[in-house]
Amino acid sequence: MASIFGHIAASTAIGYAFFPKEVRPITLIVAGFCAFAPDLDVLAFSYGVPYSSEWGHRGWTHSVTFALILGVLSSWALQRSISWNKLTWWLVISTLTHPLLDMMTNGGRGCALWWPFWKERIFLPFRPIQVSPISIDDFFTPWGLSVLASEVIWIGMPGLLIIGLARWWQGSAPVR
Ligand SMILES: [Zn+2]
Repeated sequence: MASIFGHIAASTAIGYAFFPKEVRPITLIVAGFCAFAPDLDVLAFSYGVPYSSEWGHRGWTHSVTFALILGVLSSWALQRSISWNKLTWWLVISTLTHPLLDMMTNGGRGCALWWPFWKERIFLPFRPIQVSPISIDDFFTPWGLSVLASEVIWIGMPGLLIIGLARWWQGSAPVR
């Protein structure tokens, strides 16, 4: 995993950059939940599901299929109707950033991105993000600090850059 902070930073940055009209406190919270929710699969460890299982950590919840389902359901929960609109896009993309960021971490197993069609665990070729500890105790150690430092560089700064570029682009676009 990347840390919860890294995942929520990604969903927040995408909201402000690409879906500014959808940004409200409640939608930020739900988008942050979507971005973090795939890691609720660590609960499977306590039920004896092995890491390597498609039902284990970084398995089915770290897939495009899961992102579509969670994004649409969360959008429905917020709007009380099924409609594929900008909010739905934001929530699906927020969920999808989770496996994509995990696939850029330097440890653990890859993600089952194409589950259930292809169950292989994969990484991206570019893996600069320090993998986050799974246990909370390990997070308050030098390892945890190094995770935060690498996420500031590889998630926080690109996030701010994307928001800035999007604002600039929107500001320079002709008024219609
Ligand atoms: Zn994860």
